[in-house]
Order: sequence, then C-alpha cells, then structure tokens
Amino acid sequence: MNDVITTLLRCPSCGGALEILEDEYYVWFGCRRCLRYVRRGKRELVRRYVDYSARFFNWRGLVEELYALYR
Ligand SMILES: [Zn+2]
Repeated sequence: MNDVITTLLRCPSCGGALEILEDEYYVWFGCRRCLRYVRRGKRELVRRYVDYSARFFNWRGLVEELYALYR
C-alpha cells in the first residue's frame, strides 16, 4: 500500500476516521480500527470520475460512492 489519506468521514461502527488507500489496481476505503475496507477498481473509477477534456477530477463523487459502499 502507498500513502494513506485520512478523511473527515467517520466510521458508522466505531466513530474512527475513514481513510483512503490505493494499490496498483484498487482504491480502498475504510476503517483502520475495524479493519473493514471496500474497494473499487482504479480503471473503473477513472472512467467515471475523471473528465479529461475538462481536466476535472470528481473527488466528491468518488468519495461519496465509496462511503455509500462502506455503509
Ligand atoms: Zn470503524
């Protein structure tokens, strides 16, 4: 795993800060305390959340999807 990004979102189970990690193929989202993570393929996320023509990365959409998946 590479860098860990700690978000302001809280784990519904323990109240801990949720975090984002990535490896070669996936973006992972979850709680270090509960050791529960969900993941989405990077290729799929880029296709849906990166608009190259507008040079826009829809971080909000990405995090909202991962958070919904986690809950
Ligand atoms: Zn937790």
